[in-house]
Amino acid sequence: CGIFAYLNYLTPKSRQEVLDLLVTGLKRLEYRGYDSTGVAIDSPDNKNIVMVKRTGKVKVLEDAIQEHFSGGEYSEPVLTHIGIAHTRWATHGVPCERNSHPQRSDDTNGFVVVHNGIITNYNDVKTFLAKRGYEFESDTDTEVFAKLVHHLWKTHPTYSFRELVEQAIQQLEGAFAVAVKSKYFPGECVASRRSSPLLVGIKTKTRLATDHIPILYGKVIPRSDSTSEFMPMEEKEVEYFFASDASAVIEHTNRVIYLEDDDVAAVRDGTLSIHRLKKSLDDPHAREITTLK
Ligand code: GLU
Repeated sequence: CGIFAYLNYLTPKSRQEVLDLLVTGLKRLEYRGYDSTGVAIDSPDNKNIVMVKRTGKVKVLEDAIQEHFSGGEYSEPVLTHIGIAHTRWATHGVPCERNSHPQRSDDTNGFVVVHNGIITNYNDVKTFLAKRGYEFESDTDTEVFAKLVHHLWKTHPTYSFRELVEQAIQQLEGAFAVAVKSKYFPGECVASRRSSPLLVGIKTKTRLATDHIPILYGKVIPRSDSTSEFMPMEEKEVEYFFASDASAVIEHTNRVIYLEDDDVAAVRDGTLSIHRLKKSLDDPHAREITTLK
């Protein structure tokens, strides 16, 4: 099973190209084993999220994508775009389209998530959310993640996207790598991991001016404050990848950051931040940007 997410910033790519990238990324992860697949990208008006999910091979998804998104608006270049993709190895709920990822917060696709691993306390979270009116449409443990982020978004209007995901993972137990996308935060993507692998690939035109990203710590920065929590990169045009495995990004870039447990990586306005809620004494204060050989 595997996660692959792609984000381009000021780098023109059509939605079709983004979909191609996502499908290729999934193919590179195929060897990890899976039973179903799925992708989510922005709709042509950028106001909604479109998902395609299938049981079976990546090839089946690829054909479905071709049927869904051919020509027209999908071939026009967009400057900034995010897609997330998934191969699933079912642990909770049989392999079927409804249980495939991305899983969503609600029927408007407010928040969509791809997840590898197992959320062990999902039953408790499900009960908590059901009491607050959430209706579940899948048998997965993953669906609680999307709905918990949505619940936090409704109850904490000042939280940034990064913080919503960070608060959600505080309440979850088990193993996960996640990538989350939201129609309320266009152009942003947040990813995190605990005991499941996840790395960030960074592709820039010129050589990166830095070989590490400082870790940011601590509390809330309001949603309205758009820049202060982010470590700006020198480069304007940049592409990011979140992947379970380096084999999915190596054809695009050899610069990667391996995330540590409970790191929350967020991309906004083309900049990447890595945030941790708590600072521990042995923290290295930065994550190294490794060059793959
Ligand atoms: N536990 C999740 C599910 O069953 C994710 C499985 C995976 O890692 O692919 O949907």
